This record gives sequence, C-alpha cells and structure tokens, in this order.
Amino acid sequence: MTRACSTPPPSPSPARARRRPSPNTNPTVIIIGAGITGIGAAYYLGLNKMSYTVLEANDDLGGVWHTHRWHGARCDSEFIKYSFSFKPLVSPYSLQNREQIHHYLGSVAEEFAILEHIRFNTRVTKVVFDTDATRWVVHTTAGVFTSCFLINGNGYFSDPYVPTFQDAEKFKGEIIHTSALDSRRTFLDQDVVLVGSGATAICCAPALSPVSKSLVLVQRSPSYIYESSNRAGLLTRACQHLHTMGITFPMKLLRYALQCKDDLIFVGFRGFPRFGRWFFKHHWSSTIDQETFQRHFRPRYNPWEQRIPVAVGLKEKLRDKEIVIKTGDIDRFTESSIVMANGEEIRCDVCVLATGFNLNLLKFDMYVGAEKIAVGGINFYKGIMLGGVPNYFHPFGAWHTAWTQRSETVIRFAIKVMAYMNASGFRTVSVDRRGVNFTPPLTSTYITRGLAMMPRFYGTYDLPAIDNIVSYRFNARSFNFS
Ligand SMILES: Cc1cc2nc3c(=O)[nH]c(=O)nc-3n(C[C@H](O)[C@H](O)[C@H](O)COP(=O)(O)OP(=O)(O)OC[C@H]3O[C@@H](n4cnc5c(N)ncnc54)[C@H](O)[C@@H]3O)c2cc1C
Repeated sequence: MTRACSTPPPSPSPARARRRPSPNTNPTVIIIGAGITGIGAAYYLGLNKMSYTVLEANDDLGGVWHTHRWHGARCDSEFIKYSFSFKPLVSPYSLQNREQIHHYLGSVAEEFAILEHIRFNTRVTKVVFDTDATRWVVHTTAGVFTSCFLINGNGYFSDPYVPTFQDAEKFKGEIIHTSALDSRRTFLDQDVVLVGSGATAICCAPALSPVSKSLVLVQRSPSYIYESSNRAGLLTRACQHLHTMGITFPMKLLRYALQCKDDLIFVGFRGFPRFGRWFFKHHWSSTIDQETFQRHFRPRYNPWEQRIPVAVGLKEKLRDKEIVIKTGDIDRFTESSIVMANGEEIRCDVCVLATGFNLNLLKFDMYVGAEKIAVGGINFYKGIMLGGVPNYFHPFGAWHTAWTQRSETVIRFAIKVMAYMNASGFRTVSVDRRGVNFTPPLTSTYITRGLAMMPRFYGTYDLPAIDNIVSYRFNARSFNFS
C-alpha cells in the first residue's frame, strides 16, 4: 500500500542529529549514507523486519538534496519517477526543487520510523570483512560497528571539479563553484558569468539571473537542452487525485508508463540521431534564430549520448535577453573579465563554476580479509554486487532516467538475496571476480574523466522498463553462497 504526501512547505532544516537516540551498533545490516539510496534501503529493510543502522557523515539526511544549495538546485527527472514508488508526492509541479526534495525525504524518514535508526555525524573511514566471523567491521569517526551485510549508499560525487584557467590568480573578483554557492546570495551590483553546459548550469542560470546585475552563460560546447513547463499534466493530476482517494493502481501504471517512455526516447534518439537532432532544432525554433541555434545549441555529439538537461524558464530569459550565451574556450582571466579564445572579453565580477564533480563511488577504504578492494575496473553485477566482495550491496541507480528507477529495484533484489540466505542458513554471498567488457551508456565528461575508477557494470539491459521486470528475478545459481 503506497501513501502520498502533498507539496511540502520549505524545509525547516532541523538539526535532526540532536534529537535522536543512538541506534544499534551491531545490526544485521549497516547502511552507509542517508541520501535517497540509504533511505530507500532503510524503508525496505524495515518492511522486511530486518534490523539496520544508517551511518551518515552529515548532521542531516538527504545527501545531495541537503548539501547542494545553489540557485535553482532541483531535479530534472519528473518527480513521479524520482520519488519512491511507495510514497508518491502529490504536487501541481512535475519537478521539485532542493528544499522540496529534502523535505520529502525527511517526511519519508519520519513516517516510516527510519530517523531513529540513523546515526548522524558518523563518517565511515574503513570497512573490513572478517572472513572468519563472516561479519563486516565498520570503523567510523564515532566508533566501531559490526554487521552481517553492508549496503553502501555513499553517493558518487566527490570533490568539485575546478578547471585550471590561465591568469585566474590575477582576477580581482570572486570565483566560486556551485557546491559552495548559497542560493540566499544576491549579486544585484555585479556582472556574473556562469561557466558550464550541463544540468547544473541549465538549472542555475534562470534562477541566478534575477538576482544578478547581468548573467552570461559561458559554455565550452553546446548540449541538447529540453525546456519543460514544470506543470504536472492532466493525466498526472488525475492519477494523483485518485491516489489521494486510495486508488493507487493508476499512479503505479503511470510511473511505469513514464519509465517506458524514457527508455523509448533513449533508444529512439540513439538509434535515429538525425530524428533527435531535428527534434531539438524544432524545439528551439520559436525561441532563437537559426544562427544562434547553430552556434549555441548544436552539440558535437548525438542526442542521448550525454544526459539531457531540462530547463525551466530558460527560453523566456533568452528571449528577454536576461541571459546571454557565449560558446567557446576560455583563454584567460584579466583583473575584471574573462577573455574567450576568439578574443571576446566578457566583464565579470563573479564567476560561478557549474563545472561538476569528480566521481568517487567508494568514500572509505574497503578490505576483504587483508585484501584491499579497488573499485576501479572491478566487475559490478547488475549494479548491486562487486566481484569477490561478500555480503556487500552497492545499489546503483539508472543512467538515463531517474536514479530511483534502478536503485529501488536493486535494493529489493538485495533483500531477496538476504531473505534467501536467512531461510537457507547461509552466512555469506558473493559473485566471482572476473573481467567484463564495459562501455558506459553515456559519454558525459564526468563519466569519461572518472572511467578508470569506475566498476564495470554487467547483467542488465540498462533499460529500467525491461530490467525491472526481467533482470532482477532472483536466481540462487547466480551467486556463491556458503
Ligand atoms: C542538484 C542535483 C540534481 C540532480 N538531479 C537528478 C535528477 O533529476 N535525476 C536523477 O536521477 N539524479 C539526479 N541527481 C543525481 C543524484 O546524485 C542522485 O539522484 C541521488 O541523489 C543519489 O543519491 P545517493 O543517496 O546515492 O547519494 P547522495 O545523495 O550523494 O548521498 C550520499 C550520502 O552518503 C553520505 N556519506 C558519504 N560518504 C560517507 C561516509 N564515508 N560515511 C558516512 N556517510 C557518508 C553523504 O553524507 C550523503 O548523505 C542530481 C544531483 C544533484 C546534485
């Protein structure tokens, strides 16, 4: 039975850490991280009556929805897909902003009694699988914990990626990465240059422009951008309405239909790139002229080779000339400007870098016995188990659609594995270490930059609409049990 909540008021951002008792130090499962992955895992463990403790480095839950506070921070997956299947959000908007998602995750943790299992301000530094005791020993900044299983929801972003710019030290203004930007800041007397072309830049620009004297968006090369109205459609509203009346089936069906739509668009655009290019040209034709389109909106790659940023309000701001786009390499900084490779000089008091993050899938040291585990290049079965690492589940979300479209499914899959072990009296589960061929489905810069330290995925079609029905059927023969 799923329950819905409605659009929340802005989050009061309580210091949740201060008002909770200390959770179990030796549960069956330790979850690392209280982001959307960790909270989803906690829900399903609670549902299956398995004891668990969540270890969270920060003083609040939410992961990226707690820490990313820049102007315009929001999801660009429709929230009906991004929210948990067991807790739809009733809202007139199809996308939700950071505060709303943070509040949503807090409300899930409150409602399903997850909060009391979270140990805040507890950073995991090292985990060791004791092969004799067949238990994980988890070293943290707040002591040692042990458990039979680990579920790792530590996220995949690490430090901000800051490109090196020539003469940046001569610049008298401010250079700030979005990770350090607080949306309460205004720049009404300052010329702002926003550097980037991915989802962060496209979400940030329309929100940063009204609080800046001027805003220039500088991108090295164009991306495909899709502008959305951010209004929940009639069908969504009807399904939400039925849901609030206790008729939950239409909402589930709609969620699945949207998942199929995402997979179809992904496969369709990749299979028929000329159609994809035509689609985006048509999409922008009423907003910008042909020359502007060619210069700033015509990427070098084909549609859906990289994630497609979803804009809200960008068209209007471009039409009104409140945002100006410049495409090209930055040559250097001067004391008060940015000089492009073509010689054009852009006045700048504040340079906001929406240049993304480096990837890091494992934020602590991991050992199996005495062997240190390196995640780079290791086989990663169905986005859930690493080769040769027992009793360890690492739920990885979907690439081209909402993260939860896969992360939720793999968590349920992990629970089937644990339930089978419990019923059969097994103490360990693993998959063999082996070489697998792997080409990431997307070529986004942060993925290609971090490829060497990424595990090698296999065992699915990478299409949640199919995988969620076919690939996550539990088959005991796929694993080594002892
Ligand atoms: C602004 C923004 C917009 C996004 N929009 C979308 C979108 O529209 N659709 C989509 O699918 N994805 C989107 N993403 C990607 C997003 O990262 C994932 O959707 C998802 O939030 C990942 O959740 P997570 O819980 O796995 O990781 P995170 O949210 O990163 O949470 C990880 C948690 O683990 C904790 N942690 C890390 N290391 C340790 C440690 N050593 N010990 C203890 N705790 C630790 C962290 O403090 C954090 O709370 C967006 C990301 C950002 C930043």
